[in-house]
Amino acid sequence: MIKTTIVGIAALLLFIACSKKKDADSSAPAAITGTIPLESVSGFSGEKAYAHVEALTAFGPRPPESEAYEKSLAYLENYLTALGWKTKRQSFKGITPIGPIAFTNLLARYSPDAEPDWTVSPPYLIGSHLDTKRFPDFQFVGANDSGSSTGVLAELARVLSTQGEPAKNIELVFFDGEEAFLENIRGRDGLYGSKYYASQLNNRSVKPRLGMVLDIVGDPKLPLLIGGDSEKNLVAHTQAAAKTLGIQNWVKAHSDSIIDDHIPLMSKANLPVLHLIGSFMDATYWHKADDTLDKITPGALENTGKLTLQVMHQLTK
Ligand SMILES: [Zn+2]
Repeated sequence: MIKTTIVGIAALLLFIACSKKKDADSSAPAAITGTIPLESVSGFSGEKAYAHVEALTAFGPRPPESEAYEKSLAYLENYLTALGWKTKRQSFKGITPIGPIAFTNLLARYSPDAEPDWTVSPPYLIGSHLDTKRFPDFQFVGANDSGSSTGVLAELARVLSTQGEPAKNIELVFFDGEEAFLENIRGRDGLYGSKYYASQLNNRSVKPRLGMVLDIVGDPKLPLLIGGDSEKNLVAHTQAAAKTLGIQNWVKAHSDSIIDDHIPLMSKANLPVLHLIGSFMDATYWHKADDTLDKITPGALENTGKLTLQVMHQLTK
């Protein structure tokens, strides 16, 4: 009888502990660490973002496991560390149609004085893929796909670091393995890094409030689409921000879902998302050898960076 009671009490305590943990996870939104100021919006430099794309494309094609991918990681780590960001490599093995591949995502948090607590997310996550699609037959350096968004994230890091505390609102993530090994992203082939990152987010005690994903953002001739999976409130924020910046004719709400790294953030980590992607279906050079620097401009990178920061300003006000 006593034994049964003890077992019963133990089970009850376990149940309470589990419910409490669940409550803490779902009811504690990540704390905002100050408003991202308008000076950070105006301070974003398209020229500086462009210089990062130049550096990345100069390393050559950067598919997963390549020498250029490793050089790109080291380049970002050195640059981010010098600005006061702490970086973390998230490495894992994935099964692909061409066999097992070692992937590495790069995570960054602004925390000049101490190592950040990686188990507690800041409120906002901004991600972009860093890998380029693997084409064994030709050189694909991906200036627009994915150099452009990577350059924007790198410049975001600089401009945010000049603002101190508000920079702690954001975790930057450079995803590996967005691209499929076969022709298109399908089933298990593609989004390797974001799937892994999203599954790991569930181990954190505090998750981000939302995730923003940028991709193919450097061509001024391609409208910047607000992907159809974007949460309604975030679409409204983005349209308002575009208007404030006078780029409302370039930024277009898109009704369809476009497969990208935001999908696992939604499906695996249950985050609302904002997906910004250039209208690549109108680009003759998409996934071709001529996705080169001449397709992108500092102006388009600057508009994307300012739009991102203006949205962040509105969300943290
Ligand atoms: Zn691509």
